[in-house]
Amino acid sequence: MATLTDAQQRDVQYQLHPYTNAVKHQSIGPRIIERGEGIYVYDDQGNKYLEAMAGLWSVAVGFGEPRLVEAATRQMQKLPYYHTFTHKSHGPSIALAEKLIGYTQGRMASAFFTNSGSEANDTVIKMVWYYNNALDRPEKKKIIAREKGYHGVTVASGSMTGLPANHRDFDLPLPRIKHTSCPHYYHGARPGESEEAFATRMAEDLEALILKEGPETVAAFIGEPVMGAGGVIVPPRTYWDKIQAVCRKYDMLVIADEVITGFGRLGTLFGSERFNIEPDIMVLSKQISSSYQPLAAVLINDKVASVVSSHSGKLGTFGHGYTASGHPVATAVGLENLNIIEERGLVQNAAESGEVLQQALRDMAGHPLVGEVRGVGLIAAVEMVADKESHRPFEPVGTIGAPLYERAHEHGLIVRAIGDTIAFCPPLIITREEVHDMVGRFARALDDVYKQRKA
Ligand code: PMP
Repeated sequence: MATLTDAQQRDVQYQLHPYTNAVKHQSIGPRIIERGEGIYVYDDQGNKYLEAMAGLWSVAVGFGEPRLVEAATRQMQKLPYYHTFTHKSHGPSIALAEKLIGYTQGRMASAFFTNSGSEANDTVIKMVWYYNNALDRPEKKKIIAREKGYHGVTVASGSMTGLPANHRDFDLPLPRIKHTSCPHYYHGARPGESEEAFATRMAEDLEALILKEGPETVAAFIGEPVMGAGGVIVPPRTYWDKIQAVCRKYDMLVIADEVITGFGRLGTLFGSERFNIEPDIMVLSKQISSSYQPLAAVLINDKVASVVSSHSGKLGTFGHGYTASGHPVATAVGLENLNIIEERGLVQNAAESGEVLQQALRDMAGHPLVGEVRGVGLIAAVEMVADKESHRPFEPVGTIGAPLYERAHEHGLIVRAIGDTIAFCPPLIITREEVHDMVGRFARALDDVYKQRKA
């Protein structure tokens, strides 16, 4: 067992970490990240890592961007805090709301700010319920999410998340949240089934669930345009068209959780653009501020906004909001961050560097451990399988993913292991050369693990 440094010991003693094996952490301690610059971060032992996950899918403009520091400082000096409750507002929240609605070219009407994606998705659930109460449909409240979908970890958003680790041990999901099939063609398709036929079957599964629950009780469907934390799952061709048709048939709201896909990740401004999704509600976070400040937004279209605002007389005030909703420093930083994304053409860069990333990873498909390579733009994943022919996963899960995640550090690379799937989601500023460097580091780590396994 390695001896822990003083800082590691204090961490182990005093801090409980999110998404961390608390028992293992006691013996191995944390890797302490001290600073960042561009696509790199440095730990307190002087090691440099290419941050292939942009933190948690979020640092679009890279680490150490001085303009965001200045934007925060300026706002801190002028008005460090004010709220947006009870008919109050401030410049940065107004400007950011206007910018976000402008980005949607009139498809969305109004923005509501929160601090995190989880809070935004809780807000979504409450808006859906509020909307149906206002329309005198008190029974129409169920929300359908998907297995392997990720929408957060609060009691309600965690219920929509479709991962066992977020439910088991936490007595979730809540009763009004249901889950339909995960559209992962590689694992879910039947022999000989085309992508289109698989997508049709996914839509039929959704319709069957709606009919089982009773359409008059089902209010909305939520999905990420491309699933992120569940394993970077790209929907099969025609999936979103078919899913949306079912939702419209049963008068359900369509919610696009764009917390990862928003602001250029897929090489388009929004994931909805890429897949022709016409959401009634959009959820944005992460790249909205490059996570320099906690910030998220719920955008609602006119259909939802007109009901939510015109019925406040009947339901009383919209009794929902956070102390830091639209926080002036967070929204000022968000605004400047979006200016940088525009000025530097980072959406276009994500499309171009993304193409290089997708090709470079697909070139690894022949590796004996690699089952599937998937992704769009600057988000991608490589899934390792026990049997390439049958797509059989490793048992136990993580057999390859866990050592590979560790090994990558030795090659100066931080990735994310989701079971035996390794995810890539680098800052949008990454160049084509840096993409090749990133993939090269991954390939060397993969070979290390392969050789070790063979030995
Ligand atoms: N939705 C999606 C699609 C996400 O990826 C995440 C976070 N990974 C969330 C919601 C939750 O965001 P937060 O961690 O800020 O609560």
